[in-house]
Amino acid sequence: MDRETKIAKAKWFNDADSPVMFMVDDFTNVWIDLNGNGRVDRGEDWGHAMDGRGSAFRFLTEEVLKGFPSVKVTFFTPVARVPVIKNHGYSAHFAPINENEKTANFFRSIHQDERFEVAYHGLTHGVNGTKTEDFVHEWVAYKSLEEALETIEKGKKIYFDVFGEYPSGGKYCGYEYNEFSDESIDRSGFLWWCRKWDRGETGTNELEHFDIKYFGQNGVVDIPSTVYGALFNLYGRNPIARALKRPAVFGRGKDEINHLLENKLIISIQEHLSPARTDGRRQTPNTHDDKEGLRTLFKYLGSKNVWYCTGTELAEYVYCRDNVEIEEEKEAFSFRATFSRDLRKKLVTLVIDDKKVRQIRTPDGDVVQGQQGVFNLPVLTGTYEML
Ligand SMILES: [Zn+2]
Repeated sequence: MDRETKIAKAKWFNDADSPVMFMVDDFTNVWIDLNGNGRVDRGEDWGHAMDGRGSAFRFLTEEVLKGFPSVKVTFFTPVARVPVIKNHGYSAHFAPINENEKTANFFRSIHQDERFEVAYHGLTHGVNGTKTEDFVHEWVAYKSLEEALETIEKGKKIYFDVFGEYPSGGKYCGYEYNEFSDESIDRSGFLWWCRKWDRGETGTNELEHFDIKYFGQNGVVDIPSTVYGALFNLYGRNPIARALKRPAVFGRGKDEINHLLENKLIISIQEHLSPARTDGRRQTPNTHDDKEGLRTLFKYLGSKNVWYCTGTELAEYVYCRDNVEIEEEKEAFSFRATFSRDLRKKLVTLVIDDKKVRQIRTPDGDVVQGQQGVFNLPVLTGTYEML
């Protein structure tokens, strides 16, 4: 190897400027028959109608994501959701995701699809009362660490029953947590977690806010939430007013996204699948109201150097990156990995500043082609030869 050859780990997979994680909350076995006609109409279910006609899932895949096959979705699923208020007047269906085989099969098939991940979002999402204001989000409803741990175990059992594995990551319901919440996540074996609505935080270094952090004794990967799903939306019905507002809305949204790209920060887009609620309000943000704005965002990202990933893909890359050291040898190198976790994929992207290096032969004999010095490599034991 040339003594000038410089090998560095890329911050993100494929040396992207930013990872893009599309987060869709509250995907579960719920339907609220808002107009009382006994049929699932657009905007009424949260996953209960599966991929049937009029379902929210079909709306997402066929309308919001149409033409954007690279975008990946991480769904956040409360496994046995309760309504936001008791004694609501609607005919509604609230049941666990393992209610019957057909429902379980549907949720499993989504999780097994490369474009999707179903992550954990609580057992019930919280405790309801008679008014909207009475609802207490799940992690602040726990009275003790023990209660939190026991409830997570109950939820994980339902999750396992459907998916045949335990969840790798998840998100606090309503981004609300208390003094023992983080420990409950750490002790329950999660690799990653979404703790905060970081766009809403002020008074601290925002660059740090929009990047990965770790928490807990096992180093849980803390993924921030950085982009509001309605960022590019134009409100109001008057078409002339909307046309006049468009450049300002687009400019502001673009500035926000460019700031994340320029600083190699995370683009994690926060949404809910469905607008339907039992208290007569409309859930915000939601994929139905934000369809055009989301499509504007995906179109804009189409020309950028981004990496579309799920929560687990992002967390595993970061975990690998931070737990692998490069040991350089003559025209070769090896990895020293200090993993304490089981990972599905062990990948590290290297940037090699030497035009003579075009390929790398991995320890198992595969040859990986580089793209302008960028090599996406599996983490293996043994010697990697630079060719
Ligand atoms: Zn939620």
